[in-house]
Amino acid sequence: MATTVSLVAGGAGFLGSHLCESLLDAGNEVVCVDNFGSGRRTNISHLVDDHRFQSIEADIRDAVTLPPAEEVYHLASRASPADFTDFPVDIALTNTRGTRNLLDYAVATDARMVYASTSEVYGDPEVSPQPETYNGNVNIRGPRGCYDESKRFGETLTVAYRDEYDVDIRTARIFNTYGPRMRPDDGRVIPTFVSQALHDEDLTVYGDGSQTRSFCYVTDLVNGLRSLMETDGLAGEVINLGRENERTIHSLADMVIDMCDANSTVVYEKLPEDDPLQRRPDTRKAADLLSWQADTTLQSGLELTIESFRGDLFAE
Ligand code: NAD
Ligand code: UDP
Repeated sequence: MATTVSLVAGGAGFLGSHLCESLLDAGNEVVCVDNFGSGRRTNISHLVDDHRFQSIEADIRDAVTLPPAEEVYHLASRASPADFTDFPVDIALTNTRGTRNLLDYAVATDARMVYASTSEVYGDPEVSPQPETYNGNVNIRGPRGCYDESKRFGETLTVAYRDEYDVDIRTARIFNTYGPRMRPDDGRVIPTFVSQALHDEDLTVYGDGSQTRSFCYVTDLVNGLRSLMETDGLAGEVINLGRENERTIHSLADMVIDMCDANSTVVYEKLPEDDPLQRRPDTRKAADLLSWQADTTLQSGLELTIESFRGDLFAE
């Protein structure tokens, strides 16, 4: 049987690098395309000697010529809210012009595609948990608009390409995912809390910490993405991928301090504008269509993450 070639846009990022690794483990050839904006070369340094792995430094906003592949995973986009302030145009164009370029590539090579959308398409949700049928509550002109609205348009574009060019494209709405290889200075809550606790610094809780999130461990998420790609008969589907276990940010801070055995306390800072007050995926569709659920508990996932951060932060 011929080897499957998978192209992973955003392959040097947090999720992308774990996905590249998983695809190589499955015997695929992997082409990683990344501009190393928020991704790191060290995320893929252990893969570059594998003859089945190719790294291409390119920006998907540009018209670049890429080698043919049977599968395209489109994960390229800065994803940290901290970047929404510093790189709004980059993000908006990556998710629109960049998505268009990858869709044209999928048409030209007759590839199947998985598009990484986000729970942010639900904005500050008025229903909980959020099912795929919910249309969301997004402030299109707010500080998160560059990301939320461009991901929403990215989804619209995938539907248009499906209808006009019959592209086999599946969309994952990814909920907060964490694990090793997130950058300690990424700005997202788990890498921030873990690196603060490991340095015995106070943990910065925004607002009163009563806002909720549901956290999924990276290996579960990667299995979900692969299942979405590899299951036949799902052309055009959109599926939430995440873990249903919802908790407050305050309780997360307490848990991280406890697990790191840190001499830290919590300090409160202003809640950023439009920070969603609640978030929890309805994962029944993923269970039905993919037979998938995220099994790793927050306790076990945090243990693995803390261990890895400890190694990275205090490596000699
Ligand atoms: P990340 O920042 O670690 O990875 C994104 C990667 O895309 C980086 O390597 C970056 O350099 C690359 N990239 C960005 N813009 C690019 C461009 N124009 N051209 C080429 N490469 C580009 O973030 P992540 O958490 O791994 O997120 C990966 C994808 O999953 C993103 O599309 C994100 O929106 C989506 N997502 C992630 C989460 C999460 O909790 N991690 C949640 C929802 C959605
Ligand atoms: N958060 C926090 N302190 C931090 C970073 C984030 O309290 O140092 C909060 C943030 O306000 C949000 C939640 O943690 O309510 C998750 O933030 P993150 O940036 O990880 O992702 P989001 O779900 O907001 O995209």
